[in-house]
Amino acid sequence: MRDRLRLAVPNKGRLVDPTLQLLHASGLVFEEHDRSLVARCSNQPLDILFVRTDDVVEFVADGVADAGITGADILAEAGRDLPVVARLGYGRCRLAVAVPSDAPVRAVEDLAGQRVATSHPASTRRFFAGLSVPVEVVPLSGAVEVAPRLGLADAIVDLVSTGSTLQMNGLRAIGDVLESEAVLVAGPAAQAERPDELDSIVLMLGSVIAARDRKYLMMNAPASHLADLERLLPGLASPSVIALAHAGMIAIHSVVGADEVWGLLPRLKAAGASGILVLPIEKILP
Ligand code: AMP
Repeated sequence: MRDRLRLAVPNKGRLVDPTLQLLHASGLVFEEHDRSLVARCSNQPLDILFVRTDDVVEFVADGVADAGITGADILAEAGRDLPVVARLGYGRCRLAVAVPSDAPVRAVEDLAGQRVATSHPASTRRFFAGLSVPVEVVPLSGAVEVAPRLGLADAIVDLVSTGSTLQMNGLRAIGDVLESEAVLVAGPAAQAERPDELDSIVLMLGSVIAARDRKYLMMNAPASHLADLERLLPGLASPSVIALAHAGMIAIHSVVGADEVWGLLPRLKAAGASGILVLPIEKILP
């Protein structure tokens, strides 16, 4: 068994920056060296292998890496039975079926007998076979969205996040093959032989992801207003209440959803809170 765990991550494309951000935020210290193949973590027995996003699954399935980060869409396409040990919450998109806006097609079932261009042929075949809708899949490695205009296909199956690329290309989504986000996968050998090391990676990455959509709130208030303020603050368990030097005054600390802060602050103020601070959280381990 290797003495250092190996984690394969993408070296190019849109998953690179959020993946590096997550690894650094989780506390791993490493230098990227222009994304050359391997970066050694100086504070953990972990090596990071930078490989093509599409190759992460092969590296992990073949045991060259113990775990890896890639898109759920890529994992589904690779058809290797690797367990997802954590969903990472970024790189969110869906693999959508789309047709030219003016096509007389309403639902995916209407595509029977038509040509569908995609860079996800395996997922596309599985999807249409599951619906018993026979289509001719046209595999492409890129520029899928221009296939209908070039006369290569009647429809496409492609990754969509906001839908603006579809719109720019005169296309309209009519269904979803799958939803995707970045995922952490683990190799079967690593799961059997080094479960504790994998668990700590899952825990550390998970703690950063859990903290991303929460804020730490601190405020002062007269002790007599505690019941009103507590009703507004769910917290992780219940808010912490600390006596202040000034008699009759308390400090209240709580964790709230980042999306709730906007609506919550005026209500806290109206309920008697003052000196309200909103702080980012680095990690949460519930
Ligand atoms: P890339 O290496 O830039 O081609 O993208 C690799 C992965 O990023 C895809 O396989 C998806 O998992 C993810 N991704 C997230 N949003 C999008 C999007 N709007 N279009 C394409 N890929 C996306």
